[in-house]
Amino acid sequence: MFSTSDTIVAIATPPGRGGLGIIRISGPDAARVAVLLTDQQKPLSPRVATFATVRVGAGTGSNRDHVVLTYFVGPASYTGEDVVEISAHGNPVVLQAIVRAAVEAGARLAERGEFTLRAFLHQKLDLIQSEAVNDLIEAVTPLQARVAFDQLEGTLTERIRSIDAQVFDVMAKLEASLDFPEEGYHFVGAAEAANSIGEVIQRIDELLSHAARGRLIREGAQVAILGTPNVGKSSLFNALLNANRAIVTPIPGTTRDVLTERADIGGLSLSLIDTAGVRDTTDTIEQEGITRARSASAVADVVIVMLDRSRPVDDADRALLTETAGRRRIVVLNKCDLPLPAGASDEALPAVRILHVSATTGHGIDALVEAIGRVLSDDDAPRDQPAMTNLRHVTLLERARESLDRARHSLAGGVSEEFPLLDLQEASGALHEVTGQRTSDDLLQHIFSRFCIGK
Ligand code: GDP
Repeated sequence: MFSTSDTIVAIATPPGRGGLGIIRISGPDAARVAVLLTDQQKPLSPRVATFATVRVGAGTGSNRDHVVLTYFVGPASYTGEDVVEISAHGNPVVLQAIVRAAVEAGARLAERGEFTLRAFLHQKLDLIQSEAVNDLIEAVTPLQARVAFDQLEGTLTERIRSIDAQVFDVMAKLEASLDFPEEGYHFVGAAEAANSIGEVIQRIDELLSHAARGRLIREGAQVAILGTPNVGKSSLFNALLNANRAIVTPIPGTTRDVLTERADIGGLSLSLIDTAGVRDTTDTIEQEGITRARSASAVADVVIVMLDRSRPVDDADRALLTETAGRRRIVVLNKCDLPLPAGASDEALPAVRILHVSATTGHGIDALVEAIGRVLSDDDAPRDQPAMTNLRHVTLLERARESLDRARHSLAGGVSEEFPLLDLQEASGALHEVTGQRTSDDLLQHIFSRFCIGK
């Protein structure tokens, strides 16, 4: 079991230098520890910024830094316990010295995520919200941040609680029927209960149907650009990244290695993989690049297969199209700013949906970005559902759904109430695990160990 009886301290701002650095102290002794560090004579007033000086370093090398202390009395604080935040100059030496002094004054160094864990243990946040704190901190794209904010606000929690309430309602009625059978009084008919469970399943399905997109938002995806040499892969890579990381060159086969770059594209965090030209070659270094290209594209969530519109489609292009036929892919025809080769026409192209782009003029790039988002999320409907971004939540909801389905079948098949009740209890348990009403120490350890120290 986790202890909340001691007082913890950590630097809350990121490592490095900045205008300000903040140290957070939380626990029953927070105010006492803070006062011991400073020249404060009087007890701290809650929620008032108090100017003070702290001693930094020991002996003759010691200095004094000006700080501002803010005291939040529990339970009205982030962790739900007494918290003091010390704003000092954002220098690692200063901040570490203050932390050391706090430890000498009786605080303990906080573990990863321990402030948020305490917030969870004191019921300031449920588990979904706690996970959202980390997602928010880790968010790279505005969309990731928005989804994390949504979960922090409790939209997903609310939805899951309301689904759970519906399960509870069916359970209560079934139990009542079970408790008073001799009265021949059925609080709920089997068909009616099966119907209600059907409704719950539908609500879970609605949430799950957006899980693919939700996970994509949270975790990002890998996109590989494939094509024979010189079709314009590096140029597209750059156009998408808006940066000049890959060397763009007119000589075939110069992108010998695989470049990966993470970027916010259309609100999604995508790792773009620019691969060496896929073609048969005898050059060993290039051969190595091609092997890597094949393996990189094998793990990619989506591949962009690129053809060059300014020359006829050749055997290597066709081989690539065949090779990627079973993949989630987007076929793009690049260099659409150039004229078609003599005698060629767009009709001669293979029968796949093709996007026309020009990596150099930027034509069609927006449409390509949109297509990537669509292909990856497997759905293009506008959404008013809370996003399910977290695999843990998805797995538990799927488990709840299975139990509910079993219960529904038992009821429809006329099985006595005890059995569907067990399944409903299982479903409810899975829902409680999502929100953290039911957890284990291992699970908490697992979740909070992914946080940074000071969060
Ligand atoms: P890669 O080998 O597939 O990575 O191809 P690069 O990106 O190095 O491009 C090969 C050549 O085609 C370079 O000279 C690029 O400037 C040129 N190129 C790439 N995209 C376009 C395009 O859309 N239009 C035109 N006109 N040239 C392009």
